Amino acid sequence: MYDYDLLVVGSANADLVIGVERRPGAGETVLGSDLAVHPGGKGANQAVAAARLGARTALLARVGDDGHGRLLLDSLRAAGVDTVGVLVGGAPTGVALITVDPSGDNSIVVSPGANGRLAPSDVRAAASLFHASRVVSTQLEIPLESVAEVVRSLAPDSRFVLNPSPPQPLPAEVLAACDPLIVNEHEAKVILGDSAGVSEEPEDWARLLLAKGPRSVVVTLGGEGALVASAEGVTRVPSVKVEAVDTTGAGDAFTAALAWRLGTGEPLAEAAAYAARVGAAAVTKEGAQVSFPTAAEVAAL
Ligand code: ATP
Repeated sequence: MYDYDLLVVGSANADLVIGVERRPGAGETVLGSDLAVHPGGKGANQAVAAARLGARTALLARVGDDGHGRLLLDSLRAAGVDTVGVLVGGAPTGVALITVDPSGDNSIVVSPGANGRLAPSDVRAAASLFHASRVVSTQLEIPLESVAEVVRSLAPDSRFVLNPSPPQPLPAEVLAACDPLIVNEHEAKVILGDSAGVSEEPEDWARLLLAKGPRSVVVTLGGEGALVASAEGVTRVPSVKVEAVDTTGAGDAFTAALAWRLGTGEPLAEAAAYAARVGAAAVTKEGAQVSFPTAAEVAAL
């Protein structure tokens, strides 16, 4: 019996957002709107998304001993995430400095801060969380050597889900553990490297990615839905038609929902169809964490 449906290992950031008429060039200063501070980071986002759906969720992450760290801990707890694995200190909380112009184009500077200090030794020290978790998901906003340590720390029957964002080439040990590897078009191309150029068809990327070792692959296609690929073949998952307002966090909501549903024993294509509904619900509202739906909202979609 597992205590957690999902353990997310990943980043927690404070997103500092300022609206500007025009994004500044080199050496330039511009005035902007009041500052908005939002809890973010792919790890925290996925944990909040899963908990909001009703999954028993824990997060293994690192934040600074500062106001942003406290903001993140508060938002995680408010969503129902178990924060026993959130380590405090070592560096300031990770921050994303975001300027957005009226057309919605943005410029972002990320300071990984404490996320970059989530070390393999921190992963090893959380062995009890791994043994208590049915599914473990992670992303690449923490050091790659810590992601590799996550793979080595999995309980024998647990399942590993990876969204390699921001993308970088992955070691064979990590690829082989993914079930599934979840990528969008950009991530697929970075991981495939030169072999991505052979085709513009997402079905082909899914097959090429599968040949790199994961047990299964999911390619997300925004408003076009997704594709799932495994030894049984490639299947399309239709998108749910909605009025898209803000796509921020859709990928995190999709990944969290998919990871949770796989842990309940649902087959990959069905879990992906549910995750597509969750992703669609998330794009109907502004923001990332605040846009993540409850299970009742997904059912009503
Ligand atoms: P992110 O912007 O969070 O990094 P991503 O690129 O990783 O997102 P997307 O492919 O944009 O991920 O979205 C994930 C899933 O959410 C899609 O596979 C789809 O099911 C759903 N989704 C995203 N955008 C829309 C949309 N406009 N309409 C309906 N569903 C959507």
